[in-house]
Amino acid sequence: MNGAPLLRLEGVRKSFRGVHAVTDASFAVARGSITGLIGPNGSGKSTTIDCLSGFQRPDAGRVLLDGQDITGLPAHLVARAGLRRSFQQVRLFDALSLRDNLMQAAQAADGVGWLGAVLRSPALRRAELAAAERAWLLLDQIGLTRLAESPAGALSYGQKKLAALAAALMPRPRLVVLDEPMAGVNPSRIVEVEAILRRLNAAGETFLIVEHNVDCIMRLCHEVVVFEQGRTLTSGPPAMVRDDPRVLEAYLGV
Ligand code: ADP
Ligand code: MG
Repeated sequence: MNGAPLLRLEGVRKSFRGVHAVTDASFAVARGSITGLIGPNGSGKSTTIDCLSGFQRPDAGRVLLDGQDITGLPAHLVARAGLRRSFQQVRLFDALSLRDNLMQAAQAADGVGWLGAVLRSPALRRAELAAAERAWLLLDQIGLTRLAESPAGALSYGQKKLAALAAALMPRPRLVVLDEPMAGVNPSRIVEVEAILRRLNAAGETFLIVEHNVDCIMRLCHEVVVFEQGRTLTSGPPAMVRDDPRVLEAYLGV
């Protein structure tokens, strides 16, 4: 977790017809970290991740990914630069097996139709083998190896979320943004999903997580960014953020 930040936002701003959704989003995501983004409802979290992932164009400010200015790039180019959003950018094909869905995700990211191609160059063949190996590794890490050959349509809601996460990781992005990964997850399984995210992080993945479940963020994250009324209120390690009176005030409105 050292060196220049993997992602940096500087003074990002976004309004919608007079509504100042984000007035100053400024924070960094360290390489190799799990960074959490929290804040009361309407504080601008979703708009901010829309802006940094190319789903919205910021009115002002800069977004830097690994030093590269990606401000205002459309989502598919941001994805190609190495920043992926799980769920929104991943479609599972119900009729395909879980494993084939992961292979499809790698192929879609490559922009090359190597799966089922009639003429296969050695390079494409190697790419396919590497993808197959990665698919097995990710299935193991999300604990779904036993369902590799099951159609995605047969998976439970929670399993589909994990499958979408694995699909987002297939093309080896530099950073994965997770929007509310615990939403709809059975409370008894939240700790399990946390363990999976920790395992993926230990294997080298960097995550930016927006999550309502503050306890989960505090347990999981190395760094927590707190939003209030469209701007970054503070950021730091969980223990520091938790004890910051301004954070309590932002949440409780006291
Ligand atoms: P959060 O994700 O933290 O709940 P949002 O980014 O969704 O916050 O919203 C921040 C503010 O911007 C809210 O007041 C919301 O109503 C407003 N907003 C978000 N998206 C739009 C939009 N497309 N048009 C108008 N207002 C929006
Ligand atoms: Mg939101």
